[in-house]
Amino acid sequence: MSERPLNILISGAGVAGASLALVLARQPGFKMQLIITLIERSPVPRITGQSIDIRGPAVDMIKKLGWEQEIKARHTTEKGLAFKNSKGKTMAILPASGDAKAQSATSEYEILRGELTELLLDGIKESKEKGAHVQVVYGETIKSMEDRADGTGVDVQFARGKLEDQRYDVVVAADGIGSPTRGFIFGKEDNASHIRPSGLYIGFYSIPRIPGDDQLWHWATFPPGLAIHLRPHRNGKTMGVYLSICNAKKEPNPDLEAILHADVAQQKQYLRQRFESSVCTWQMKRFMDGLDATDDFYMTHWCQVRTPQWAKGRCVTLGDAAFATMGVGTSLAMAGAYCIAGELSKIASSEQVPQALQSYESVYRPYVKTQNLDFALLPQLANPQTAWGNWVLHTVVGLFAALRLQDLVTWIMNRNEKEEWKLPEYGW
Ligand SMILES: Cc1cc2nc3c(=O)[nH]c(=O)nc-3n(C[C@H](O)[C@H](O)[C@H](O)COP(=O)(O)OP(=O)(O)OC[C@H]3O[C@@H](n4cnc5c(N)ncnc54)[C@H](O)[C@@H]3O)c2cc1C
Repeated sequence: MSERPLNILISGAGVAGASLALVLARQPGFKMQLIITLIERSPVPRITGQSIDIRGPAVDMIKKLGWEQEIKARHTTEKGLAFKNSKGKTMAILPASGDAKAQSATSEYEILRGELTELLLDGIKESKEKGAHVQVVYGETIKSMEDRADGTGVDVQFARGKLEDQRYDVVVAADGIGSPTRGFIFGKEDNASHIRPSGLYIGFYSIPRIPGDDQLWHWATFPPGLAIHLRPHRNGKTMGVYLSICNAKKEPNPDLEAILHADVAQQKQYLRQRFESSVCTWQMKRFMDGLDATDDFYMTHWCQVRTPQWAKGRCVTLGDAAFATMGVGTSLAMAGAYCIAGELSKIASSEQVPQALQSYESVYRPYVKTQNLDFALLPQLANPQTAWGNWVLHTVVGLFAALRLQDLVTWIMNRNEKEEWKLPEYGW
């Protein structure tokens, strides 16, 4: 074991940053000792968010690291996906496959984002109690940083005075789609150009469960490009709601971009006005009352991130900061954290950090490339602007369900995945 520990800074305590900190803090087999600092801009843990799922190599990861049972125990209990029209009539149901190796829209590892993040953060706390050198600092961000030309480390200045300015051996940007840390690494000027809009804006929140709610994911679409999703929670007391607005084009919508930067009260008011004046009659009062009452509201523009490089010197990007995408962002973030930790576990000195981060990129990028596909007009096809478009959507999914084409598609996807990429072995 080397004399000097590796000093690692991770910016962003979402699923990506917390997964990495936990893998680093828990795994035996590292050649070097580690000091891990995870910083989060929010003053408190961000343990909210609705259903996310774990797929592909991330399933192998949670099995390998012994996280599977804890995650499975928090399954949202969702049993499939029901497409609805604006009156709440069910048009088609796609059941969960029940097979973790060939998952359908509802995953066998469906968990609330908040519960997964909390599980990871609790694991970090436990590792610290057991002696790992790991700390989580809330209400802190990087003010500036410089990867020194002499190769001795990254000098980091902090913005809020909770941490002393200091030199790190590794800096990881895990601070989401807009990642300011990515801007420090690759240039602030280009930072926004890595973000590819989808035109789909979503407000997420929880409402009380009522008699009649079941274990299906209900998805009602109606013109112009609006949708309401209702999804079960494990606790039997609440349900997740998503209100989504999809532009006819992928470009950002100036009104909605302004709303994203407004406060939560204004965001709620905007959504209320758009949904109450729509053609939808399905439980509208309940969804609007819930919107007013909720304290876990979160709104985002669903975007992809694609950057030409993830690793540069001693710095690297992970999760949405590196490769945000639709549907599998959480899985990519978790398996990416595993690969960064794995490559760092092989090195015996700080000088080898740049090489380890390059290896992470070489190992993992081929897989991410197969997942971070062009959105094309998928959100627009799934959220039609017209009544005619909605009729076509419901007819197609109705046929899909009746002919059980879903089984065929998941089988094909599973077959390809198996042939393409496997989670590397690091001897843990
Ligand atoms: C509160 C919240 C709720 C979400 N809810 C859902 C949901 O319901 N459904 C869904 O599909 N996806 C949701 N997401 C997104 C989803 O979690 C991610 O797409 C995916 O898990 C990848 O995670 P990530 O850690 O890379 O990014 P994120 O989850 O975005 O995490 C990034 C973290 O970095 C922090 N951060 C940002 N800037 C800085 C900074 N300058 N310094 C330090 N920290 C910073 C953020 O506060 C955040 O905690 C949510 C994200 C958040 C933050």
